[in-house]
Amino acid sequence: MDCIFCKIARGEIPSNKVYEDDQVLAFYDLDPQAPVHILLIPKEHIGSAVEITPQNSGVVAHIFEVAAKLARELHLENGFRLVNNCGKDGQQTVQHLHVHLLGGRSMTWPPG
Ligand code: AMP
Ligand code: ZN
Repeated sequence: MDCIFCKIARGEIPSNKVYEDDQVLAFYDLDPQAPVHILLIPKEHIGSAVEITPQNSGVVAHIFEVAAKLARELHLENGFRLVNNCGKDGQQTVQHLHVHLLGGRSMTWPPG
């Protein structure tokens, strides 16, 4: 499948990895929007948050577990933000489910 994050998960496109296990990969975003900007993806292809089902939601929970571990390791004690952009209105640009871990600065609300 011609999916850039599937290719990253398979190691066919290089990425700056911060964490990997059999289910999840985390790597630095190419265009960082904060001092810490990591993407967490399931290795299996899930197109977006609307494709989360009882059958695949375990990996989504695992993504949040890995995000918490990375936030602790990266000393984001002041807090951080986990973001999922979904679909056209959500400004999703890569059609493979991913969670942004953003930290190292104070965020604004509401997002634009
Ligand atoms: P989204 O707009 O939520 O779909 O987020 C996609 C993110 O993927 C953007 O923040 C891009 O900067 C990032 N991105 C796209 N291609 C790559 C890549 N090859 N390596 C790392 N980050 C990427
Ligand atoms: Zn994919």
